Amino acid sequence: MQLTDYIRTIKDFPKKGISYKDITPLLLNPEACELVVSEFIKGLEGKPIDKVVGIESRGFLFGMLLAKALNVGFVPIRKPGKLPSQTFSQSYDLEYGSDTIEIHKDDIKKGERIILHDDLLATGGTAAAACQLIEKLGGEIVQVNFLIELDFLEGRKHLPKANVNSLVHY
Ligand code: 5GP
Repeated sequence: MQLTDYIRTIKDFPKKGISYKDITPLLLNPEACELVVSEFIKGLEGKPIDKVVGIESRGFLFGMLLAKALNVGFVPIRKPGKLPSQTFSQSYDLEYGSDTIEIHKDDIKKGERIILHDDLLATGGTAAAACQLIEKLGGEIVQVNFLIELDFLEGRKHLPKANVNSLVHY
């Protein structure tokens, strides 16, 4: 089974010139989803983990499955104004303008060993901001994992290089 068979490219979505990687066909297939989780776990052998952090919103899908498989807690990173308790925020630059993400202040304790997960690594801005939030809370980033990495955008140069693990590269 090839994961790429379950990822389709939609041209000009969400706007002209963007080739969007759509993972919804993969979500329809339980065996493909199981393969994703088992591939992530393979890359974590021998590494104790305390929590999985997922980035809104597609990072919640496999982030939660991975947390369940590792029998650890899941922490959501969300867009501003969505988390109800006290948060830390981090802004980051986009091609045009900027964006902000938030985390609950008490979701990670100092020294906890963290996996950060999102569905796709593009320019790396979102994941780099998420790393900053985790580090602000004293978390140790053991791995940053993605289902898909767009190699030509070189997003991994903004992340702790040795710890980046992507299952599918374009
Ligand atoms: P970055 O900050 O690395 O430029 O963008 C990554 C974020 O944008 C991720 O949260 C990801 O969900 C979203 N994203 C950007 N392009 C795509 C795409 O082609 N497909 C999917 N599924 N998500 C994308």
